[in-house]
Amino acid sequence: MHRRVRSIAALICVALAAAGCGSAEKPTASGGTYRLLATTSVFADLARLAVGDAVQIESIVPAGVDVHTFEPSPSDAARIASADLIVANGLGLDAWIGKLLNAAGKGGDALLSLGEGLDASDGWTYLDAGASGATGGAHGGVDPHIWLDPKGAALYVQKIAARVSADRPDLVVRINAEGGAGLVAIAALDRELAASFAAIPAERRRFVPFHDAFGYFARAYGITVVGVAIQAPGQEPSAKEIAALIDAIRAAGVTAIFSESQFPTRVAERIAAETGATVVASLFSDALGAAPADTYLGAMRANATAILGAMR
Ligand SMILES: [Zn+2]
Repeated sequence: MHRRVRSIAALICVALAAAGCGSAEKPTASGGTYRLLATTSVFADLARLAVGDAVQIESIVPAGVDVHTFEPSPSDAARIASADLIVANGLGLDAWIGKLLNAAGKGGDALLSLGEGLDASDGWTYLDAGASGATGGAHGGVDPHIWLDPKGAALYVQKIAARVSADRPDLVVRINAEGGAGLVAIAALDRELAASFAAIPAERRRFVPFHDAFGYFARAYGITVVGVAIQAPGQEPSAKEIAALIDAIRAAGVTAIFSESQFPTRVAERIAAETGATVVASLFSDALGAAPADTYLGAMRANATAILGAMR
């Protein structure tokens, strides 16, 4: 909260200082196209919010493919080789990027892991992976889905802006303007979602997402995650886990279960059939979708509209 009262310019300056902007350690490459390659469409769009069209931005995981279980191809290694900066989440979400960096002969300094190394000085505390699943099954480590809280997305944007600015001092003025506008847009999204969820009585602020991605989102807006349809992507839930989730859904009176575009809906449909709940519109978690969910801001608003609709 206290971060919001600081000016956006101050936020970017802090981020730049943290990244060692102005130090002479990095070779200064000015001019030419700077190529940023993000693991997913979400991080590519957060990069757009950070640096606009000052650099070329692409992503690796295709639409409709799950980032957690993604298998990179040799052509992905070729794209990595020609990129100036690889933007990943880290925290186990897109761990396959390490193999690609090796295959491309790139050093770790070409990789920016957005979710890693955040702490109290960023106003951030991590959630345990699996913490929000009512059926338990924490797999250790931390929940990687930080960007689904707009305050987390703002931290990502600051990190990207700081890193590209450090690499390309000739682009700093453009990046300050783009990143400032991006942070203002994310702060507006956050205020809008906070007001919308605050208008729902606390006892109705409950939902069942498909995979365990919405812990930070739920924490931000006072929502209870009653359970999740699958504990770990790529893994079907056990009969015992499904039974526990069905009990939790009945006890909480949840009437809607959400699917996600990059996962099959079979499990969600089965749970819905047994509880009398309905499977409602896909949420966007690890990937963006079709317009208007083809941007981070659009996807977050689409998620909020779907979730609020089920709570009302
Ligand atoms: Zn995920």
